Amino acid sequence: MMTFKAAVFDIDGTLAMMDKETGAFTALPGAIEAINTCKAAGMAVVAYTNGTIFTPEHYYAPLARAGIELEPGHMMTPAVVAAHELARLGQKRVMVLAAEGVVEPVREAGVEIVAPKKGAGAVDAVLVGWTRDFDVHMLEAAADALWNGAPLYATSVAPYFASAKGKMMGISGALVAGLQNATGVEHTLFGKPSVAGLTMVSDLTGARPDEMIVIGDDPKLELLMARRAGAFALGVTTGGRDRAAFDAMSPETRAHIVLDTLEDFDLSACQEDFA
Ligand SMILES: [Mg+2]
Repeated sequence: MMTFKAAVFDIDGTLAMMDKETGAFTALPGAIEAINTCKAAGMAVVAYTNGTIFTPEHYYAPLARAGIELEPGHMMTPAVVAAHELARLGQKRVMVLAAEGVVEPVREAGVEIVAPKKGAGAVDAVLVGWTRDFDVHMLEAAADALWNGAPLYATSVAPYFASAKGKMMGISGALVAGLQNATGVEHTLFGKPSVAGLTMVSDLTGARPDEMIVIGDDPKLELLMARRAGAFALGVTTGGRDRAAFDAMSPETRAHIVLDTLEDFDLSACQEDFA
Protein backbone atom coordinates (compact mmCIF):
# COMPACT_ATOMS: atom_id res chain seq x y z
CA MET A 1 0.00 0.00 0.00
CA MET A 2 1.21 3.49 -0.90
CA THR A 3 1.81 5.76 2.07
CA PHE A 4 1.21 9.39 1.20
CA LYS A 5 3.70 11.90 2.58
CA ALA A 6 1.99 15.14 1.56
CA ALA A 7 -1.52 16.44 0.88
CA VAL A 8 -2.05 19.39 -1.46
CA PHE A 9 -5.46 21.02 -1.06
CA ASP A 10 -7.05 23.57 -3.36
CA ILE A 11 -8.85 26.31 -1.40
CA ASP A 12 -11.91 27.78 -3.17
CA GLY A 13 -14.61 25.15 -3.62
CA THR A 14 -12.45 22.49 -1.94
CA LEU A 15 -11.47 23.57 1.59
CA ALA A 16 -13.60 26.69 1.87
CA MET A 17 -15.83 29.26 0.23
CA MET A 18 -14.94 32.93 0.35
CA ASP A 19 -17.43 35.73 0.83
CA LYS A 20 -16.39 38.10 -1.97
CA GLU A 21 -17.65 41.15 -0.06
CA THR A 22 -15.89 40.56 3.27
CA GLY A 23 -13.04 38.23 2.23
CA ALA A 24 -14.05 35.86 5.07
CA PHE A 25 -13.76 32.10 4.49
CA THR A 26 -16.18 29.40 5.62
CA ALA A 27 -14.78 25.87 5.78
CA LEU A 28 -16.65 23.34 3.64
CA PRO A 29 -18.09 20.21 5.34
CA GLY A 30 -15.35 17.74 6.26
CA ALA A 31 -12.47 20.05 5.24
CA ILE A 32 -11.01 20.62 8.71
CA GLU A 33 -11.37 16.92 9.55
CA ALA A 34 -9.64 15.92 6.28
CA ILE A 35 -6.68 18.19 7.10
CA ASN A 36 -6.50 16.76 10.62
CA THR A 37 -6.60 13.20 9.28
CA CYS A 38 -3.63 13.94 7.00
CA LYS A 39 -1.67 15.67 9.78
CA ALA A 40 -2.38 12.77 12.16
CA ALA A 41 -0.95 10.41 9.51
CA GLY A 42 2.31 12.39 9.64
CA MET A 43 1.75 14.06 6.27
CA ALA A 44 2.71 17.59 5.30
CA VAL A 45 -0.36 19.68 4.44
CA VAL A 46 -0.10 22.38 1.78
CA ALA A 47 -2.82 24.71 0.48
CA TYR A 48 -2.39 25.83 -3.14
CA THR A 49 -4.78 28.33 -4.71
CA ASN A 50 -4.48 29.37 -8.36
CA GLY A 51 -5.21 33.07 -7.78
CA THR A 52 -2.54 35.77 -7.68
CA ILE A 53 -4.69 38.72 -6.60
CA PHE A 54 -3.39 38.26 -3.02
CA THR A 55 0.01 37.39 -1.57
CA PRO A 56 0.22 34.02 0.22
CA GLU A 57 0.59 35.84 3.56
CA HIS A 58 -2.85 37.32 3.02
CA TYR A 59 -4.50 33.90 3.45
CA TYR A 60 -3.20 32.56 6.79
CA ALA A 61 -5.34 34.64 9.17
CA PRO A 62 -8.71 34.42 7.37
CA LEU A 63 -8.24 30.66 6.84
CA ALA A 64 -7.30 30.20 10.51
CA ARG A 65 -10.48 32.06 11.50
CA ALA A 66 -12.38 29.44 9.48
CA GLY A 67 -10.54 26.68 11.39
CA ILE A 68 -8.01 25.91 8.64
CA GLU A 69 -4.54 26.11 10.19
CA LEU A 70 -1.49 26.05 7.92
CA GLU A 71 2.21 25.86 8.79
CA PRO A 72 4.31 28.88 7.73
CA GLY A 73 5.42 28.49 4.10
CA HIS A 74 2.69 25.94 3.38
CA MET A 75 0.34 28.40 1.63
CA MET A 76 1.10 28.54 -2.10
CA THR A 77 -0.04 30.63 -5.06
CA PRO A 78 1.33 30.54 -8.64
CA ALA A 79 3.36 33.63 -7.67
CA VAL A 80 5.27 31.60 -5.07
CA VAL A 81 5.81 28.88 -7.67
CA ALA A 82 7.04 31.53 -10.12
CA ALA A 83 9.46 32.91 -7.52
CA HIS A 84 10.72 29.39 -6.79
CA GLU A 85 11.17 28.56 -10.51
CA LEU A 86 12.85 31.90 -11.35
CA ALA A 87 15.35 31.31 -8.54
CA ARG A 88 15.93 27.73 -9.73
CA LEU A 89 16.46 28.90 -13.33
CA GLY A 90 18.87 31.60 -12.12
CA GLN A 91 16.82 34.43 -13.62
CA LYS A 92 17.73 37.45 -11.56
CA ARG A 93 16.32 40.46 -13.42
CA VAL A 94 12.69 40.00 -14.38
CA MET A 95 10.15 42.35 -15.92
CA VAL A 96 6.91 41.83 -14.02
CA LEU A 97 3.56 42.85 -15.47
CA ALA A 98 1.36 42.07 -12.45
CA ALA A 99 0.08 43.51 -9.15
CA GLU A 100 1.44 43.12 -5.59
CA GLY A 101 0.16 39.54 -5.27
CA VAL A 102 2.90 38.54 -7.73
CA VAL A 103 5.48 41.29 -7.24
CA GLU A 104 5.93 40.74 -3.50
CA PRO A 105 6.66 36.97 -3.42
CA VAL A 106 9.01 37.30 -6.43
CA ARG A 107 10.89 40.20 -4.81
CA GLU A 108 11.11 38.26 -1.52
CA ALA A 109 12.77 35.40 -3.41
CA GLY A 110 15.62 37.79 -4.26
CA VAL A 111 14.64 38.51 -7.87
CA GLU A 112 15.20 42.07 -9.12
CA ILE A 113 11.82 43.39 -10.29
CA VAL A 114 11.97 45.53 -13.41
CA ALA A 115 8.94 47.73 -14.08
CA PRO A 116 7.55 47.37 -17.62
CA LYS A 117 8.43 50.70 -19.16
CA LYS A 118 10.41 52.12 -22.07
CA GLY A 119 14.16 51.95 -21.56
CA ALA A 120 13.92 49.21 -18.93
CA GLY A 121 17.10 47.59 -20.29
CA ALA A 122 17.90 43.91 -20.71
CA VAL A 123 15.92 41.43 -18.60
CA ASP A 124 16.24 37.67 -18.08
CA ALA A 125 12.49 37.06 -18.41
CA VAL A 126 9.00 38.59 -18.54
CA LEU A 127 6.45 37.41 -15.96
CA VAL A 128 2.74 38.18 -16.38
CA GLY A 129 0.19 37.83 -13.57
CA TRP A 130 -3.10 39.27 -12.39
CA THR A 131 -3.43 43.04 -12.50
CA ARG A 132 -6.03 45.66 -13.33
CA ASP A 133 -3.41 48.37 -13.51
CA PHE A 134 -1.79 48.24 -16.94
CA ASP A 135 -1.54 50.34 -20.08
CA VAL A 136 -0.26 50.15 -23.65
CA HIS A 137 3.23 51.40 -22.66
CA MET A 138 3.65 48.43 -20.33
CA LEU A 139 2.55 46.00 -23.04
CA GLU A 140 4.99 47.60 -25.49
CA ALA A 141 7.86 47.36 -23.00
CA ALA A 142 7.05 43.68 -22.38
CA ALA A 143 6.87 43.01 -26.14
CA ASP A 144 10.27 44.71 -26.58
CA ALA A 145 11.80 42.44 -23.93
CA LEU A 146 10.34 39.37 -25.67
CA TRP A 147 11.62 40.53 -29.08
CA ASN A 148 15.03 40.83 -27.41
CA GLY A 149 14.92 37.16 -26.48
CA ALA A 150 13.45 37.07 -22.95
CA PRO A 151 11.23 34.04 -22.21
CA LEU A 152 7.55 34.66 -21.34
CA TYR A 153 6.15 33.26 -18.08
CA ALA A 154 2.56 33.32 -16.83
CA THR A 155 1.01 32.66 -13.42
CA SER A 156 -2.33 31.72 -15.00
CA VAL A 157 -3.86 31.61 -18.46
CA ALA A 158 -7.35 30.64 -17.29
CA PRO A 159 -9.92 32.33 -19.58
CA TYR A 160 -12.11 33.42 -16.65
CA PHE A 161 -12.77 32.88 -12.95
CA ALA A 162 -16.09 32.05 -11.33
CA SER A 163 -17.18 34.68 -8.82
CA ALA A 164 -20.33 35.61 -6.93
CA LYS A 165 -20.97 38.17 -9.68
CA GLY A 166 -20.57 35.62 -12.48
CA LYS A 167 -17.61 35.27 -14.83
CA MET A 168 -14.56 37.45 -14.15
CA MET A 169 -12.14 37.75 -17.07
CA GLY A 170 -8.72 36.12 -16.63
CA ILE A 171 -6.59 39.23 -17.13
CA SER A 172 -3.18 37.52 -17.14
CA GLY A 173 -4.35 35.08 -19.82
CA ALA A 174 -5.55 37.99 -21.95
CA LEU A 175 -2.23 39.84 -21.55
CA VAL A 176 -0.25 36.71 -22.39
CA ALA A 177 -2.40 36.08 -25.49
CA GLY A 178 -1.81 39.65 -26.61
CA LEU A 179 1.96 39.40 -26.14
CA GLN A 180 2.08 36.04 -27.91
CA ASN A 181 0.07 37.49 -30.78
CA ALA A 182 2.53 40.37 -31.13
CA THR A 183 5.79 38.47 -30.71
CA GLY A 184 5.10 34.82 -31.50
CA VAL A 185 6.81 33.93 -28.18
CA GLU A 186 5.04 31.00 -26.51
CA HIS A 187 4.51 31.23 -22.75
CA THR A 188 5.53 28.86 -20.00
CA LEU A 189 2.87 28.44 -17.31
CA PHE A 190 3.76 28.27 -13.59
CA GLY A 191 0.22 28.00 -12.16
CA LYS A 192 -2.12 25.00 -12.33
CA PRO A 193 -2.22 22.66 -14.24
CA SER A 194 1.57 23.05 -14.61
CA VAL A 195 3.44 20.46 -12.55
CA ALA A 196 5.83 23.21 -11.36
CA GLY A 197 3.60 23.64 -8.29
CA LEU A 198 4.09 20.03 -7.23
CA THR A 199 7.84 20.24 -7.89
CA MET A 200 7.82 23.08 -5.38
CA VAL A 201 5.81 20.98 -2.91
CA SER A 202 8.50 18.31 -3.28
CA ASP A 203 11.23 20.83 -2.44
CA LEU A 204 9.14 22.09 0.51
CA THR A 205 8.15 18.75 2.03
CA GLY A 206 10.58 16.13 0.70
CA ALA A 207 7.65 14.13 -0.74
CA ARG A 208 7.88 12.97 -4.33
CA PRO A 209 4.83 13.73 -6.52
CA ASP A 210 3.91 10.02 -6.47
CA GLU A 211 3.80 10.27 -2.67
CA MET A 212 1.24 13.09 -2.76
CA ILE A 213 -2.53 13.25 -2.71
CA VAL A 214 -3.96 16.31 -4.48
CA ILE A 215 -7.49 17.36 -3.56
CA GLY A 216 -9.47 19.82 -5.66
CA ASP A 217 -12.73 20.79 -7.34
CA ASP A 218 -11.43 21.63 -10.83
CA PRO A 219 -10.80 18.67 -13.15
CA LYS A 220 -8.81 20.87 -15.57
CA LEU A 221 -6.59 22.53 -12.96
CA GLU A 222 -5.34 20.76 -9.83
CA LEU A 223 -6.55 17.29 -10.81
CA LEU A 224 -4.96 17.48 -14.25
CA MET A 225 -1.80 18.76 -12.53
CA ALA A 226 -1.92 15.79 -10.15
CA ARG A 227 -2.27 13.22 -12.94
CA ARG A 228 0.50 14.82 -15.03
CA ALA A 229 2.86 14.65 -12.04
CA GLY A 230 1.90 11.08 -11.06
CA ALA A 231 0.14 12.07 -7.82
CA PHE A 232 -3.16 10.67 -6.53
CA ALA A 233 -6.03 12.91 -7.71
CA LEU A 234 -9.07 13.28 -5.46
CA GLY A 235 -11.95 15.37 -6.81
CA VAL A 236 -14.78 16.99 -4.86
CA THR A 237 -18.00 18.40 -6.31
CA THR A 238 -18.40 21.10 -3.62
CA GLY A 239 -17.05 23.79 -5.97
CA GLY A 240 -19.99 23.54 -8.37
CA ARG A 241 -18.52 21.15 -10.95
CA ASP A 242 -20.59 17.97 -11.10
CA ARG A 243 -19.49 14.40 -11.73
CA ALA A 244 -20.09 14.80 -15.48
CA ALA A 245 -17.38 17.49 -15.57
CA PHE A 246 -14.92 15.04 -13.99
CA ASP A 247 -16.05 12.17 -16.24
CA ALA A 248 -15.49 14.37 -19.32
CA MET A 249 -11.71 14.12 -18.78
CA SER A 250 -9.80 11.34 -20.55
CA PRO A 251 -9.06 8.31 -18.31
CA GLU A 252 -5.35 9.18 -17.97
CA THR A 253 -6.09 12.78 -16.86
CA ARG A 254 -9.19 12.08 -14.77
CA ALA A 255 -9.44 12.18 -10.95
CA HIS A 256 -8.91 8.73 -9.37
CA ILE A 257 -11.85 9.25 -7.02
CA VAL A 258 -14.59 11.90 -6.87
CA LEU A 259 -16.44 12.66 -3.62
CA ASP A 260 -19.62 14.69 -3.09
CA THR A 261 -17.98 16.26 -0.04
CA LEU A 262 -14.82 15.92 2.08
CA GLU A 263 -17.08 14.43 4.77
CA ASP A 264 -16.57 11.20 2.80
CA PHE A 265 -12.75 11.55 2.81
CA ASP A 266 -11.08 8.20 3.60
CA LEU A 267 -7.28 8.42 3.50
CA SER A 268 -6.65 4.65 3.74
CA ALA A 269 -9.11 3.93 0.94
CA CYS A 270 -7.23 6.42 -1.29
CA GLN A 271 -3.90 4.83 -0.38
CA GLU A 272 -5.21 1.34 -1.15
CA ASP A 273 -6.76 2.56 -4.39
CA PHE A 274 -3.44 4.07 -5.50
CA ALA A 275 -1.38 0.94 -4.78
MG1 LIG B 1 -11.12 25.52 -6.62
